[in-house]
Amino acid sequence: KKITIAIDGFSSTGKSTLAKQLAKHLGYVYVDTGAMYRAIALFAMQNGYINSELFDKEKLIASLPSIKLQFKFNSDLGFAEMYLNDTNVEKEIRTIEVSSFVSKVAEISEVRAKLVEQQKEMGKDKGVVMDGRDIGTVVFPDAELKIFMTASAATRAQRRYDELTEKGDDVSFEEVLHNVEERDYIDTHRDNSPLVRAEDAIEIDNSYLSREEQFDVVLGLVNE
Ligand code: C5P
Repeated sequence: KKITIAIDGFSSTGKSTLAKQLAKHLGYVYVDTGAMYRAIALFAMQNGYINSELFDKEKLIASLPSIKLQFKFNSDLGFAEMYLNDTNVEKEIRTIEVSSFVSKVAEISEVRAKLVEQQKEMGKDKGVVMDGRDIGTVVFPDAELKIFMTASAATRAQRRYDELTEKGDDVSFEEVLHNVEERDYIDTHRDNSPLVRAEDAIEIDNSYLSREEQFDVVLGLVNE
């Protein structure tokens, strides 16, 4: 019987790596909800609604109905890529600029309402692994399996830094660490669905677990 798996936690705790492995192994659909918030942040940047000096929330809210988000499966990559108004934005949404604005965009209730509705629709048939910040608490409070991932800030920043520099992004470790800490702060302090562990979520600290060990632990839980 297919279930719903909710994976929440802080930035760069390896949620998407685990979620992708699980989805592949189980033949489930993987939904990266962070990509959706990132695409909205990218839209706001492209339209000049957000930059280091200003944030025009009203204009962004007014444009929400015209924003179309879709995931399209790329069989070469083995996962779905994010499309913003029919354009593939998978690369653009992963930059440090988008990371620096996304949590501010994710604080807006109208943004959350739009995305949560779409996420509920995507997961309504079960057989889904969804990762984010509020999946076990807001999107699927009845999910059969909830995982809450943690890892030390240094471990997480190192991971993000390696990912970004591997792609050729010119960033410093300090900049990445600052971004990870800032997002954690905003994500846990916002009024609207702040990041918290669902009471029935199982916490996994993967600072010292390899990908394989972590996968085995969670697969064991799925099969329980
Ligand atoms: O998961 P990822 O790091 O790509 O998410 C980017 C940002 O989007 C998070 O820092 C958070 O501010 C926001 N987010 C959210 N709720 C989700 C997923 C992401 O607020 N379900």
